[in-house]
Amino acid sequence: MHDSHIHLALKPLNENWKRDTQDFLDLGGKKILTQGTDILDFQDTFDLAEKINNEFDKNIIDIAIGIHPTVFQEKFIKQDSDKICESSKKFLKRYQEIFEKEKSKLTAIGETGLDYFEMYNSNLDEKVIELLKEIQKESFRVHVQLARENNLPLSIHARELEGETNCINDTLQILAEEGRGLVSGVFHSYTGSIDKLNDILDIGFNVGFNAILTYPSGENVREILKQTPIENILFETDGPFLAVQSVRRNKKSLIRYGRSSQIKEIIKKASEIKNISEEKLESIADENYYRVFS
Ligand SMILES: [Zn+2]
Repeated sequence: MHDSHIHLALKPLNENWKRDTQDFLDLGGKKILTQGTDILDFQDTFDLAEKINNEFDKNIIDIAIGIHPTVFQEKFIKQDSDKICESSKKFLKRYQEIFEKEKSKLTAIGETGLDYFEMYNSNLDEKVIELLKEIQKESFRVHVQLARENNLPLSIHARELEGETNCINDTLQILAEEGRGLVSGVFHSYTGSIDKLNDILDIGFNVGFNAILTYPSGENVREILKQTPIENILFETDGPFLAVQSVRRNKKSLIRYGRSSQIKEIIKKASEIKNISEEKLESIADENYYRVFS
C-alpha cells in the first residue's frame, strides 16, 4: 500500500505524524510521497520526512517539491499587475535555487501544473486571469525542464472549470514541448474530461486516484478509473484534504482529515469498480509506484 500524494507539512498532519504513520504501517503501508507546494513549507517537508524515517527506522517517506499553480494567486494577487509578474519570477527563481541545492533528497518534482479553476472563483478581471495563466504556464515549463534534465518524475495538478478542456490541453502541450517524450509521472486527482484520458496515458503518464472515488459526487472519477488500465493506477489521499466518505459521513469521528491509512478504503472502492480483488489491485498499484518513483 502506498500514498503517492499527501502534504505532510500541513496541519494537522504535521502534528499527528507518529500516530498516522503507525496506523498506515499497521495496515501494510509501505511508501508515502509527500509534496511540498510552496517554498515556505519545503524545510518542514524535509525535516518531517527525516524525522519519520528515523522514528520508524525505514525509508517510508519520499519527497517531492514544487510550486503549486494556485500559489502565485494566493501570494501576489493584491499587488499591481506589473508587480505580480516580477514577484512571481523571483519566487520561481528562488524555487530553482532550492531545487538545485536539495535535489539529491528528491524522488519527484511536484506538486506542479496548471489550475484554471480557482482563479474563476475569486472575482478577478479577465486581464488578471490571463496574467495568472501565463505565470502558471511559465512555472510549469520550468518544472518540466527540471524533470527532464534531472530524470525525475512529475506530480501534476491540472484542474479545470467543469466542462472545459483548456487546462488539460495547455498542460499536455507544455509537457510535449518541454518534456519531449522524456518525462513521466502522474496526473494526481485527475477530475477533467474523460476524452483526454487517452492523451494522458499515451504519453506514458499515470493517474492518481483518491477519496473522490468514494464520494456520491465522484461518478466522473469512477468512470475515469474504469477506463484506466491497472498498470497506470496510483493511489493517493491528497491529505489533509479529501477525507474518505466514511470519515466525512461520521460527524463523531475524531479524525476528520485525509491521512494515509485511508488508502485502504480507497483501494476497496477501486477494487469494486475494477472488479478485481483488493490484494491484487494493491500489489499491482504498489509495483506501479516503485516503477514510477524510483
Ligand atoms: Zn495536492
